[in-house]
Amino acid sequence: MSGGTDPAASAVVEFRTVSKTYPGGVAAVRDVSLRVLRGELVAIVGPSGSGKSSMLNLMGSLDRPSAGHVLVDGHDVAALTDRQVSALRATRIGFVFQQFHLAVGVPVLDSVADGLLYAGVPQRRRRARAAAALARVGLSHRVHHLPHQLSGGERQRVAVARAVVGEPAVLLADEPTGNLDSASGAAVLALLRELHAAGTTVVVITHDREIAAALPRRIEMRDGRVVADTTTEPTRGAPA
Ligand code: ADP
Ligand code: MG
Repeated sequence: MSGGTDPAASAVVEFRTVSKTYPGGVAAVRDVSLRVLRGELVAIVGPSGSGKSSMLNLMGSLDRPSAGHVLVDGHDVAALTDRQVSALRATRIGFVFQQFHLAVGVPVLDSVADGLLYAGVPQRRRRARAAAALARVGLSHRVHHLPHQLSGGERQRVAVARAVVGEPAVLLADEPTGNLDSASGAAVLALLRELHAAGTTVVVITHDREIAAALPRRIEMRDGRVVADTTTEPTRGAPA
């Protein structure tokens, strides 16, 4: 899949009046237009049921909109075949969920290497890149461990390594600290910030007000609509 020449391609994700209505009639996302630019770190906040996960699933092409257009890395998801959408997702998008989704009994290195299975990377390269991704999240000493031998915070860092091993255009995280104690949650957030500082575009759902307040841009959802989209001017100098 070649990169588009559309000027909108500088947006990693673009919604053009997007709505999502589930079978049964729940309007989870209503007329949302927004752009996430390359290199941004964005928090999506809002009460339970306000449509945050639905938005993230649309951003990640896990779901198709009922109306409007979703562009991921310049590609209109509606114009792609299922196969092309799968390829887009495998190569351009990394996901992290509240439940870590690590396969039981599979060593950490293999779990992360499997993140490259559908990206057409030969096996030996997959393992080398997985080792590098695990080093990035501070888990070089855990590569041969099994998930049950790790703490929750470590498991989530493995999930982050798996999500970024393919160097996706955007990392989408749905309540990644939701199952963690506050110290482990803070460590995972610090990791997302580091990845962002190194150039990764990150969209993270959180209902932790403190976490959200510390991030440079906050999109607030209520009843499927974006009710606020606030960018805090970045302060000069590198963050501590
Ligand atoms: P949030 O992540 O903010 O809690 P969701 O996007 O999960 O919100 O849900 C938004 C609304 O859509 C809720 O009313 C929820 O019950 C409904 N919903 C979510 N997923 C589905 C689904 N697969 N089928 C039907 N309704 C759904
Ligand atoms: Mg949710």
